[in-house]
Amino acid sequence: MIVSGKRVVTPSDEAAAQRFRYAAIPTEVAQRIRSTLRDDFRNELRVWISDAEGNPCRHCLRMTRPGDRLILFAYRPFATSGPYAETGPIFIHADACARYDGRSGFPEDFTVRALTLRAYGNTERGDISIVDAEVSQPGCASQGLTRLFAAERVQFVHARNQAWGCYDFRIDRATAINIAT
Ligand SMILES: [Zn+2]
Repeated sequence: MIVSGKRVVTPSDEAAAQRFRYAAIPTEVAQRIRSTLRDDFRNELRVWISDAEGNPCRHCLRMTRPGDRLILFAYRPFATSGPYAETGPIFIHADACARYDGRSGFPEDFTVRALTLRAYGNTERGDISIVDAEVSQPGCASQGLTRLFAAERVQFVHARNQAWGCYDFRIDRATAINIAT
């Protein structure tokens, strides 16, 4: 067992870090939103000053701190269309931040949260379809991911805020070819 800061990393966490990749939104998206202050859904955006902790930046996957400059915009985290390919609000830092390294294991700032895990696959037409879903309790996402990815037709999983439903990040099998989005 390894103690990393305040977080205790268990052997099952380590194993999960080897099996899964955790993808923040692409840097190109964050840069475009910051430079244009417009999203893909015609919303004109502005910079907010965070007055509380707990708004996760979907690019660095860190919880923002009071005083951080943020942008709220609408984002559709799917490469293909379909009734399940929904759009919703997410925050990013308004200033440059490093994209989360998806090979370094489960994002630490999210271990204190219960998360909704939604598993997706493609239909025969190529649309996105939801396959399964569950709620993981704080620090227990690796068990849920292991169960969901045991089904071959699951191609990727989205982690979302349990109560608010907002998109957080995407999880792929480490062996998946396309882990960019
Ligand atoms: Zn950030």
